[in-house]
Amino acid sequence: MEKWLLGVDLGGTTTKLAFINLYGEIIHKWEIATDRSDNGKKITTNIAKTIDAKLAELDEMKSRILGIGVGAPGPVRFEDGSLYEAINIGNWHHYPLKDLLEVETSLPVVIDNDANIAALGEMWKGAGQGAKDLVCITLGTGVGGGVIANGQMVHGKSGAAGEIGHITVVTENGAPCNCGKTGCLETVVSATGIVRLAQEALTKDKGTSLLQQRVNEGQHLSSKLVFECAIERDGLSKSIIEKVSFYLGLALSHIGNLLNPEKIVIGGGVSKAGDLLINPVREIFEKYAFKRVLKSTKILPATLGNDAGVIGAAWLIKSQVNQETQN
Ligand code: ZN
Repeated sequence: MEKWLLGVDLGGTTTKLAFINLYGEIIHKWEIATDRSDNGKKITTNIAKTIDAKLAELDEMKSRILGIGVGAPGPVRFEDGSLYEAINIGNWHHYPLKDLLEVETSLPVVIDNDANIAALGEMWKGAGQGAKDLVCITLGTGVGGGVIANGQMVHGKSGAAGEIGHITVVTENGAPCNCGKTGCLETVVSATGIVRLAQEALTKDKGTSLLQQRVNEGQHLSSKLVFECAIERDGLSKSIIEKVSFYLGLALSHIGNLLNPEKIVIGGGVSKAGDLLINPVREIFEKYAFKRVLKSTKILPATLGNDAGVIGAAWLIKSQVNQETQN
């Protein structure tokens, strides 16, 4: 009987789950709402319950599952699978997520940060396939990053490696960031950051732009709308994207020079803009990256979309189980 892996992508609003085979193919995926009430105490019980319910629905035995990989929204202490904190979920400090889930499910569990598992997913089955040195950056509401060096996730001393979103790129009058600093990359290239840049540009502009027209017509000011107006050659929207691309390309050139990865994969909702974002980012990268880096590091859009997390989580538990059988 072919064994399955269970990938879990624990988010602040929804928890995505998937049974995945050893080749990284999704057999069945579903999601549940993340219950943050009572400081997130029900989260592990809810995950255990939904697994049992889904196995019953599919008429499968629990013994089919080798283990559970989890992506969690916060820095992870990899040695014991605890979360240093998880701001989007609750007041968690050194929360023993791995231990609790193992007790609730009677299955082996491995935990890593959500941006890290997205990087693992892209490495296994996505745009990063085949690359052992890979950096993945996720542009969503915030900006996440994962660094894989020689096939291994880089965690750093306290689980904060790969915090690409908090590289400072605006040194004068930078906007405040969720992390407490100002001028972080996240404040200018996340979906929220792009909207803020757009609001600033609209305030300074005389009101003749297409973007302003669309907003006047009642359309919601979103990063998507900015890209849509740029496609229609709106100068104001194009200048916003120019700014976004500059900061992102600059930060990626620093990352490129530091790590010389084979691939830098850009994912998350904002990356759906495709070439409209990637091409100008590549231009800035070409301007600032070291020549040898430029020749060998490719910038590519992510290909797995929302599945990157569950697939990466499955890879993580697969590699852990493999290691244990070898030892
Ligand atoms: Zn920050």
